[in-house]
Amino acid sequence: MSKVYYTPWRNDLEMVDKFNKILRKSNFLDNIEKDDRIAIKLHIGEYKNFAHVHPLYIKGLVSALLEKDCEPFLTDTTTYYCGHRFSAVGMLKNAFYHGFSFANIGAPFIVADGLGDDKGFSVKVRSPLNELFVPNLFREVDKMIVFSHCKGHGLTGFGGSIKNVAMGCVTKKSKLDMHKVVKFCYNDALCDGCDACKDVCDREIPLMENGKRNLSLEKREDCMHCPACMEACSRGAIKLEELEKIAQVLPLAVEGIYKVLGKENVRSINWGANIVEYCDCMPFPGRTIGKNTGIYLSDDIVAADKAFLDDVNKSTFMIDGRPDPEIQTIEGEKIGIGKMDYERVIL
Ligand code: SF4
Ligand code: SF4
Repeated sequence: MSKVYYTPWRNDLEMVDKFNKILRKSNFLDNIEKDDRIAIKLHIGEYKNFAHVHPLYIKGLVSALLEKDCEPFLTDTTTYYCGHRFSAVGMLKNAFYHGFSFANIGAPFIVADGLGDDKGFSVKVRSPLNELFVPNLFREVDKMIVFSHCKGHGLTGFGGSIKNVAMGCVTKKSKLDMHKVVKFCYNDALCDGCDACKDVCDREIPLMENGKRNLSLEKREDCMHCPACMEACSRGAIKLEELEKIAQVLPLAVEGIYKVLGKENVRSINWGANIVEYCDCMPFPGRTIGKNTGIYLSDDIVAADKAFLDDVNKSTFMIDGRPDPEIQTIEGEKIGIGKMDYERVIL
């Protein structure tokens, strides 16, 4: 049975110290060896969305790793959608604005997919993804620590460690492939041609014709199946359906990343704080949907996510038809990336 080291939430100031202690008291970092190149996979937050993991925790992890004479660095991939993190230059500026500078943290930030357009290498994965494109940087990494902010997500219901690896350790193409498994539906009868969807679409896809949105089929290949236009439409004319499918493919991508790094070389930290409605990738966090729970450390990615989900009210994540947050852990266990059954060790 997998172990999940857990420290319950107290208050913000105490928590950083408690986190630093749990890193040293547990055997979480026991597999780290001198000179290991350690990728700390994190999410720095979309510009001005500050719900992400606080940099002091990342600094604490880097300090503990440096004591082991290894080479930690922070990393993430650029986004497939337009925004502040679409290119490596934008990503690095954003990292600086949000406090993830070398001066603050003690480790550099290296964008995983080059300047933002590394096509990566292909890894065979299960259907319906079949193929995953992984940035070349991951060929050179010895170990990875996935540091995730636990929160809601407009498409997958929940974002924790599984989501962080699946969507965050792949190229733009694989991110789009995963988003395309959901079904895009448009109800012409509900549309009043208000233009709100046009204003939010980075790809300029919505076209207005005769007082209604006209979905131009030839441009649909560009559509990112992002929820931006759906969320902008107050008439409910746009819907993304079968969202459970995107939650189901996330563990398949994790399995692909494990083929590259080795399952035994990936460890997860879940930060159960600032539990908000939207993912860190959105420009706003939305409502708080749960109380801070604590911090979870495990060498089992499924157990880490499951332990957090056991501490929250699942239904608060399932707003507006979002899928059950446990789909990711259930599917993950089915394909063998981890186990839902775990032993909680309170430190
Ligand atoms: S936001 Fe909705 S109602 Fe307005 S034009 Fe777009 S689809 Fe139609
Ligand atoms: S889902 Fe909507 S906002 Fe997103 S790219 Fe497609 S048309 Fe544009």
